[in-house]
Amino acid sequence: MNPSGDRIAWLQGGDAKCVKPRPFPTSPLHLVLLGPPGVGKGTQAELIVAACGACQLSTGDIFRNAAKGGSGAPPSPAMATALAAMRRGELVSDDTVVELVRERSAECLNCERGFLLDGFPRTAEQARSLDGMLSQLNRKLDGVINYFAPENLIIERLSGRRVCRKCRTGYHVANKPSKVSGVCDACGGELMQRDDDKPEAIRTRLQAYAATCNPVLDHYRKQGLLHEIEASGDPKSVFAKTSVVLNKLAPAS
Ligand code: AMP
Repeated sequence: MNPSGDRIAWLQGGDAKCVKPRPFPTSPLHLVLLGPPGVGKGTQAELIVAACGACQLSTGDIFRNAAKGGSGAPPSPAMATALAAMRRGELVSDDTVVELVRERSAECLNCERGFLLDGFPRTAEQARSLDGMLSQLNRKLDGVINYFAPENLIIERLSGRRVCRKCRTGYHVANKPSKVSGVCDACGGELMQRDDDKPEAIRTRLQAYAATCNPVLDHYRKQGLLHEIEASGDPKSVFAKTSVVLNKLAPAS
């Protein structure tokens, strides 16, 4: 999580303010991260935020936060439908996702430290809507990074993932096991598997991704914004490749 707290602002909603602006080491970056579920975009997003201070939006995080009742209020009918789709591993409708990002656009797509979109856009329609929101704000994307990895590796990563029910610390049964099986090292809470990491939902998620990714990639390829990164290594080595791209987009000052 971004120590300056703006990820929290994204989760809270459109009126939440970014807090404690801090100097960034590079000029602000406006980025989109693409790639299938389980490819490691979320981890790379956190590393990028730590390096350059951009404001991070993960639409998946917003839905997960809503699913555990994060806002305190009962979900709206549109959100309830969205959460049911998420549990099945299906994509949420374009209208709902675009509305959710639009709510946050005036504050966060305008953030002086730049932004990092993780998990949005997922369809060509969403990509066109994002273009529209950015042009209204007189902003442009600096780059779009697409992470890719073999499907068997992605399935192994997703199916072994566990998360603490209480503090949300993440584990992996093979790559990052807890000291005591099923128990969180950080708080002693119970480890669980996300509904959408269960085998049936994983299959649906990968199919949904495969069905919609190419038009999005083409959209950004045509704009000359697309950078492709092979992401089957460990997070550090993938971040080394990511840094090469970031330095091209915004050379360190
Ligand atoms: P993620 O963590 O990005 O894989 O997102 C988890 C789930 O949230 C997805 O499987 C979808 O159900 C939903 N979701 C997140 N972002 C989007 C999006 N841009 N378009 C449609 N559904 C989304």
